[in-house]
Amino acid sequence: MTYGRALRLLIAGFVLGRCPACGRASMFRSALELHERCPSCGVRHSLEDGAWLGAVAIGYGIAALFAIALTVLELNVHFIARAGLDPTWTIAALAIPVTMLAYRPAKGLWFTLLYLYGLGGEPDGTHGATEA
Ligand SMILES: [Zn+2]
Repeated sequence: MTYGRALRLLIAGFVLGRCPACGRASMFRSALELHERCPSCGVRHSLEDGAWLGAVAIGYGIAALFAIALTVLELNVHFIARAGLDPTWTIAALAIPVTMLAYRPAKGLWFTLLYLYGLGGEPDGTHGATEA
């Protein structure tokens, strides 16, 4: 697999939640729940218990980056303090919904990463990416 194809799969998984194997169907059956198997190609998306933990870590990472960016902006522009709010608590409070909003894209990115590293499920229920 080329780096360009891997990058396209990661972007499609992060932004659109597309199946990393076929790219035709969504990995999600609802807002946050994955299909057990891809409706198009049959690749397993529902893996072992705890496989979602990486998605949570990515979601927290996205929220941390958001909080850092907002902190840098506040230190330079002071827009939160000028509004009469406490910058620390305001940034912390704003990071919570960002964590929730980032969960689905993070989950798509995480399961695409699992697939790319050969830890995703195959149509026959085995593990491992088939492309070399
Ligand atoms: Zn598929």
